[in-house]
Amino acid sequence: MDNKIYIIGHKSPDLDSSAAAIAYADLKNKMESADNYAPALAGEINKETEFALKKFGFEKPEVLNNAKEKNIILVDHNEFQQAVSGIEEAKIIEILDHHKVDFKYGEPIAFTVKPWGASCTIIADEFFARNIELDKNLAGLMLSAVLVDTVITKSPTCAEKDKEIITKLAGIAGITNWQEFGMELFKIRSTVSELSGAEIIKSDFKDFNFKAGKFGIGQVETVDLNEFAAREDEIINELNKLREAENYHSVILFITDIIKEGSEFLVSTVDQLKVGEALGAKLKNGKVYINGMISRKKQVAPKFSEIFDK
Ligand code: MG
Ligand code: MG
Ligand code: MG
Repeated sequence: MDNKIYIIGHKSPDLDSSAAAIAYADLKNKMESADNYAPALAGEINKETEFALKKFGFEKPEVLNNAKEKNIILVDHNEFQQAVSGIEEAKIIEILDHHKVDFKYGEPIAFTVKPWGASCTIIADEFFARNIELDKNLAGLMLSAVLVDTVITKSPTCAEKDKEIITKLAGIAGITNWQEFGMELFKIRSTVSELSGAEIIKSDFKDFNFKAGKFGIGQVETVDLNEFAAREDEIINELNKLREAENYHSVILFITDIIKEGSEFLVSTVDQLKVGEALGAKLKNGKVYINGMISRKKQVAPKFSEIFDK
């Protein structure tokens, strides 16, 4: 085992996972005047991550295919289900996250979980609390992550702390109109015309193991739901294929319109009635639009857990 410590987010890395790995490695290296911490990725990055890395002048972190026998800090997730392959045989040093805890480990480790809207909020807060210099470009990258994870502060996951951190990071980054910058990020993310149905589903996809079976829930956010209208049947077809191939109870993609603040749910399931019950709405041909439902973590996953994990 080498001395290197990889800081890594979840599979299907989003902007928060990628930026958190970079920012936390920077913080740790500065705190310890060391060079041991390296950001890594558990898969290929999405479009807005690529955009933000480029805009603020960061290299894409190394993609780690297997964590076996490596020193690992997990950021932006804690469930092995969502982690890089080989995590069962890695040496986990620390966790920093903002999701529900589902983690067991044989040794005591540093474990930070805050009910805030982004992992980058927690890391930025650490920079400020410890009075460690935060570079302008890193502030811009972290700001991007907080804006995406909190849906420009509109998500029910957005805490007061996120708003405070957004203001501070925007100040350091010199981005006066962060609302407009947030919209710019979401517009990049919603250019889906060149993606296949399978790519759309997997762009931000998480597995959940409930007592009733395995569930996969993907989310895409858009500034214009209409952009997806013509693709819905194609996507449902892909959801069916995925469910059958990987033995899911249900596979769901919900497309969130961040202007209307509601989501179109596309569902492939063995139990349409119960999924409707979990969503509190009746599915028609595997589809339903639900106003006000925009967060997987705070709204969708807890409702599914309530119905399918008892
Ligand atoms: Mg994430
Ligand atoms: Mg996050
Ligand atoms: Mg997200």
